[in-house]
Amino acid sequence: MSAKSLDQIVNLAKRRGFVFPSSEIYGGLASTWDYGPYGVLLKNNIKAAWWKAMVQERDDVVGLDAAILMHPRTWEASGHVDSFTDPLVECKQCHNRFREDKLAKAKDGKLVCPNCGTKDNFTDPKNFNILMKTYLGTIEGEKSEIYLRGETCQGIYVNFKNVLNTSRQKIPFGIAQIGKAFRNEITPGNFIFRTREFEQMEMQYFCNPKSADKLFAEWKETRLNWYKAIGINLQNIHFLPHDKLAHYAKAAEDIEYKTPWGWDEFEGIHNRGDWDLSRHSQFSGKDLSYFDESTGEKFTPYIIETSVGADRATLMALFDAYDEEEIREQEAGSREQDGEKSDEGGSRTVLRFNKSIAPIKVAVMPLLKNKPELVDVAKGIFHDLKTTGLMTEYDESGSIGKRYRRQDEIGTPACVTIDFQTLEDKTVTLRDRDTMEQSRIKIDKIADQI
Ligand code: ATP
Repeated sequence: MSAKSLDQIVNLAKRRGFVFPSSEIYGGLASTWDYGPYGVLLKNNIKAAWWKAMVQERDDVVGLDAAILMHPRTWEASGHVDSFTDPLVECKQCHNRFREDKLAKAKDGKLVCPNCGTKDNFTDPKNFNILMKTYLGTIEGEKSEIYLRGETCQGIYVNFKNVLNTSRQKIPFGIAQIGKAFRNEITPGNFIFRTREFEQMEMQYFCNPKSADKLFAEWKETRLNWYKAIGINLQNIHFLPHDKLAHYAKAAEDIEYKTPWGWDEFEGIHNRGDWDLSRHSQFSGKDLSYFDESTGEKFTPYIIETSVGADRATLMALFDAYDEEEIREQEAGSREQDGEKSDEGGSRTVLRFNKSIAPIKVAVMPLLKNKPELVDVAKGIFHDLKTTGLMTEYDESGSIGKRYRRQDEIGTPACVTIDFQTLEDKTVTLRDRDTMEQSRIKIDKIADQI
């Protein structure tokens, strides 16, 4: 099962420390969010999984971490400053503005205002600059206006020659980067799906124009496999080829996920042709072409791009992992531990994260917190597990059933409980998040088992 409504996720995220509204004590700031203790672990695990698959495990992709602030000419070359803006229409009734291409059509073909429902009552589309401005320098009147980057890929394009000259890579090869991007989105919303400050995970693969089509198909498959590897149910994912191509694109497909509000874009895979390097060459006056020594060909490389938002991928993981289930009575009864009722009756919410991205891998709990002999052993196991590098949490407060329930809601795959039998035979109870099965294992086998 996956989440049925966005509210389920927003509430759980707030209640359990994944995502909080930004600057909440001041009333918050529209569409900005802060990642709490479990949210940052989840997002970091997703970024690490991406980096591992895209850079570490490949010998044809290298990493980069370019600055958020770039020379303003970058954004003229990219087209963002003049033509590359989203034309907006304004509803004459409620004065909200929308991207025309995102408006739904009624059965009679008329465009509908998503805010007030009025049909076909919009202004003509007007251009709007989505780049966020800021100022460089400290002296008023002498500051120069620059932009916060609107996408991370521009940092990759402008470093193409630097990387080529220093990395010993030959075409085809890629450059990958994770970093923040900023856009003055007109209609931010849907929680962390569309915000004005967000993080992108982008890879630009430079290739001979002749092999671009083949590589585009290969990257589509590679990216789909990545979602599978982090545990996303592929039935909730599909590719959507673009009807209309952006001016720079030769081919473009979105990876869409089935969200509670319908299918929506989480990643874009594009064949950008030679547009980016040609433009930067033209605007900078630097030659960004490539000479292939093995074939004697000289060309401006084509670029295959894979671009996914780290925040959107985190939201996808939350949607996909979310489950609510009823627990049968007899199951509940059989879970009594040393006479302590584990309260496993009723219903539960559980985040069934793949182990690789779960924020906490194992929780360690003494059955009772007022028994020092149990607490001592539990703390010892907790510290030992932590030093193996497993993200581990210690929890002694509340009934054992409530503690299991809390770990279910943050998606911890395993709980280890120390009870009186532990003191006799050095075994602990290992409880599985998904099946709620309990088994006994030796203390020195816990790390291996998990
Ligand atoms: P959309 O059509 O949703 O506005 P886009 O086509 O403009 O997205 P790209 O410029 O292709 O998006 O960016 C690549 C990826 O970056 C997107 O697939 C998405 O995951 C992420 N992304 C883009 N804009 C935002 C945003 N405002 N908030 C969060 N993530 C974003």
